[in-house]
Amino acid sequence: MKALVCHAGGKIELMDRPVPKIQAPTDAIVQVTLSTICTSDLHIIHGAVPRAVPETVLGHEFVGVVTQVGDAVKNLRPGDRVAANCVTFCGECWFCRHGYVNNCEHGGWELGCRIDGCQAEYVRVPYASTSLSRIPDGLSDRAALLTGDILSSGYFGAQLCNIHPGDTVAVIGAGPVGLCAMACARLFGAGKVIALDINPARLQLALEHRAADIAINPAREDAVDAVLRETGGRGADGVIEAAGGENTLQTAWQIARPNACVALVAMYEKPQLLPLERMYGKNLIFKTGGVDSAYCDVLLEHLAAGRLDTRFILTHQGPLNEIIRGYETFADKSNGCMKWVVTPYER
Ligand SMILES: [Zn+2]
Ligand SMILES: [Zn+2]
Repeated sequence: MKALVCHAGGKIELMDRPVPKIQAPTDAIVQVTLSTICTSDLHIIHGAVPRAVPETVLGHEFVGVVTQVGDAVKNLRPGDRVAANCVTFCGECWFCRHGYVNNCEHGGWELGCRIDGCQAEYVRVPYASTSLSRIPDGLSDRAALLTGDILSSGYFGAQLCNIHPGDTVAVIGAGPVGLCAMACARLFGAGKVIALDINPARLQLALEHRAADIAINPAREDAVDAVLRETGGRGADGVIEAAGGENTLQTAWQIARPNACVALVAMYEKPQLLPLERMYGKNLIFKTGGVDSAYCDVLLEHLAAGRLDTRFILTHQGPLNEIIRGYETFADKSNGCMKWVVTPYER
């Protein structure tokens, strides 16, 4: 089969690899019908993910059809359409039982990082019973595609933010995770959603698809002044930082009102400074995290019921044959590329 491999040093190459086989009774093999390129893939290529293993097939966001299951997988059968969780987890260890699946003692972010991922024709999924969710009939692959990674990350950010009905929630970064965080903030009852981004096209997309009510471009106006203006001078009730830019952590705490919760779901490539001496008395709550994506079934229900729709984020696509071009387009955000969808290899 064809698969995109990341070599040591960050060079990526589409090459031939054997079709994966069941290695443990808890495994499943999935034929990938759609996958994506994610910013985390770029972090691996840039060498910013210490746990990443060289010569691994990249990719961790996908949907597909189960072709084979191990003996211990009782809830799935060949032929089932599934959405995959980017975090594979055992479901039984202390962390899993408490919902902290990102820190599963036996799993975590493995796919496309430490073991072969989904930018390929087939992928082996460990702990398939807990890490794969059946896609409801009537929900398309495209509609379900982002469930296990960026939609889960947006949902996680909104969960961390402890949103109360009517709250004003500011989301930094109107990229894929930011847009999902905005949509999920509404699910949790946010009354007003403010999007902040320096990319006008992304802000426009957020407004057009009603992810956000207000758009603020910190390159054009002072972000703190603008948020204060929209919040009666108090600041945002909750802030979700989904950008991971040079100054975005600073913006995050500065636009929060006193006693707000600041959820940091961005992945930084450089060390960050938290100037506690400057925020003394503001009494902020910071929560950080790599997604505890334990809610795929809940998200699939919301998607099937039309309460969430992430299809507008899928701006570009091409077959696996063209994935290198996809990486280039996605990395430099050319032609407004928000998300690159990888369709099956064409022979
Ligand atoms: Zn990702
Ligand atoms: Zn576990």
